[in-house]
Amino acid sequence: MTGRNEKLAARDQIFENLRANSRAIWRKLSRIWADQAILQSAHGKPDSLLGHPCPSEDLMLNPILISACLLGLPTRYDGQHKANERVLAHLREKGLQAIPICPEQLAGLPTPRPQCWFAHGDGEDLLAGQGRLVRCDGKEMNSAFIRGAEVTLEIARLTNCRTALFKEGSPSCGVKRIHRQQQSVAGQGVATAMLRRSGLQMYGEEDL
Ligand code: SF4
Repeated sequence: MTGRNEKLAARDQIFENLRANSRAIWRKLSRIWADQAILQSAHGKPDSLLGHPCPSEDLMLNPILISACLLGLPTRYDGQHKANERVLAHLREKGLQAIPICPEQLAGLPTPRPQCWFAHGDGEDLLAGQGRLVRCDGKEMNSAFIRGAEVTLEIARLTNCRTALFKEGSPSCGVKRIHRQQQSVAGQGVATAMLRRSGLQMYGEEDL
């Protein structure tokens, strides 16, 4: 395969992942909107939303990209979630429309999946061709995490998100903190670095 064909095939794969995950996200989002407990907590007006599987247009006026695990979706490497009440309260108070994303699922990685961390550098270093991200068995994962970040950025553009609220500590989503060699250190994840480069305002749940 020529270099150009390889690039086209890689791009096709990204958009195929985007399509597949968008469908999955909307299915999950439907469940979130239909879940009265979360709905009440996140928006405080369940009656207007129950029975409507997708958010209506007026609710898309203030979109914000959110790490799906913070909303209670079991997207983490260990198959668990990290539902965060402060995040849900923030959405309610500010009238924000959550667009849940998981960069690692968008990369096509399975859930559960082996844990990954930075061997050196952080997300910005990785985008600059200097960082290295590895799976717990030592396999390099740079290209998969860049792919997940690219699809995340595409979703941000499609949904007109200018702000994101992400999960700290993650190799994709960390905003001020990541894991390097299993130690919690200052740094940003790959998706965060790519969104920041594109001008999005990035916040971690610990900023709330
Ligand atoms: S990649 Fe981000 S959204 Fe996905 S599980 Fe990790 S922290 Fe959550």
